[in-house]
Amino acid sequence: MLDLIRPGDARYARVRHVYGATGSPGAVVRPTSPEEVTEALAFARDAGSPFAVRSGGHGISSIATNDGGTVIDLGALASVDRLDARTVRLGPGAHWGHVARALHPWGLAISSGDSGDVGVGGLATTGGIGLMGRAHGLTIDSLVRAEILTADGITRTVSAQENPDLFWAVRGAGANFGIVTSFEFTASTSADVVQAQFAFAVPDLAGFLETWGATVEASPREISAFLYLGGGAQPFAQATVVYAGTDTAAATRALEPFASLPGVVGQRAQVTAYADVPLTTDAPHSGQQRALTHTGLVDHLDLALSRRLAVMMSGGAVQMLQIRSAGGAINDVPEDATAYAHRHQNFSVTAISVGARAAFDAAWEPSFTLMDGMYLSFESDHAPRHVEDAFPPRTLARLRELKAIWDPDGIFTQNFDVTARP
Ligand SMILES: Cc1cc2nc3c(=O)[nH]c(=O)nc-3n(C[C@H](O)[C@H](O)[C@H](O)COP(=O)(O)OP(=O)(O)OC[C@H]3O[C@@H](n4cnc5c(N)ncnc54)[C@H](O)[C@@H]3O)c2cc1C
Repeated sequence: MLDLIRPGDARYARVRHVYGATGSPGAVVRPTSPEEVTEALAFARDAGSPFAVRSGGHGISSIATNDGGTVIDLGALASVDRLDARTVRLGPGAHWGHVARALHPWGLAISSGDSGDVGVGGLATTGGIGLMGRAHGLTIDSLVRAEILTADGITRTVSAQENPDLFWAVRGAGANFGIVTSFEFTASTSADVVQAQFAFAVPDLAGFLETWGATVEASPREISAFLYLGGGAQPFAQATVVYAGTDTAAATRALEPFASLPGVVGQRAQVTAYADVPLTTDAPHSGQQRALTHTGLVDHLDLALSRRLAVMMSGGAVQMLQIRSAGGAINDVPEDATAYAHRHQNFSVTAISVGARAAFDAAWEPSFTLMDGMYLSFESDHAPRHVEDAFPPRTLARLRELKAIWDPDGIFTQNFDVTARP
């Protein structure tokens, strides 16, 4: 019997929200098994109204709720199971912070992202740029098998051997092809890491960004580094730099260039469980994060781009800039191996605004013209043209062919619909 939560149910207030939006869905369906996910999809289609798929509800897209439609909430499918020495099976509704804590006693870890509140389902169907990304690749790069409910109501196994085309598509454009009900990963053995945190005063933002980029690129691939910048007249920056391993002598050598960057006003480093790296609040969702984001990928933080980013940050329309390292093991993967095809860029750049959309768009555009593609999980704007930024032409063409086979009626179009034409 499907658990249906409708307006008037005492639980409704807890399930109508996601991180970035408050919706008024007509029904929230909470399946407790993969079989019930099949029933939930049939229910949503019979209802005839729009439906949304929710795993962690922490999507920047804020599309995991709606008004008047159905939400298929996978939050109850949150299991974390160890299948053999390094293989783990995760439910889509598990949160990455909980996954990291569950894996640590087994001596395992999976690089996900900087937020432990993010759900497995949303991140593992798009990419996963994490704080061990340069060492171990994107999250999807360690995915070895998944179960996906496709539009015909059948749940299929996808892997390198089984439905390989669909396996390719799930790793970058998963939401276009169905509802993933379980994921199997080969976890890394980097259960403990060296985590460093830095604070910088940044009077010359352009110069700082260029130096930061060169420092990250010159680092050994055990290093992944995320930079968070506040805008305004006196820019400041904080950074989390992770060395994937516990060789403290090697980590000290690798971290030294970061400690020598201009403007350091605070720093600390410690050996810690990787499980303590992603910030995990477990805060209930109330639509609390209403910010707008734009995002792009770049090969280098060269001076031309750094100058434009500095101008953008001084203009008042952008409150925060996040620069996450990619590269390393992420770029070892051939660009046609997964639907996430951005395998030469070294950084993901994301601007965040709490102001007016038009001013934000105008501030972002000069920087984006110097960028090369984007990672869809950091973009809050779903204009059709972004599909061409998220997927290069050959990837998009293949995705459209597969979409015609696996979702011919266009059921799964909510999240960067690959059939959208600008
Ligand atoms: C504070 C914060 C920090 C972040 N940091 C990082 C980071 O460091 N690295 C990174 O890579 N990303 C990061 N992200 C982005 C994050 O990976 C995406 O927003 C992701 O989609 C959230 O996953 P979720 O399951 O919580 O999302 P939800 O809101 O539940 O889902 C978002 C959408 O994904 C699709 N989806 C969800 N589950 C499934 C499923 N099981 N099958 C098919 N499609 C599904 C649906 O279209 C759904 O609407 C961050 C996001 C936030 C809010």
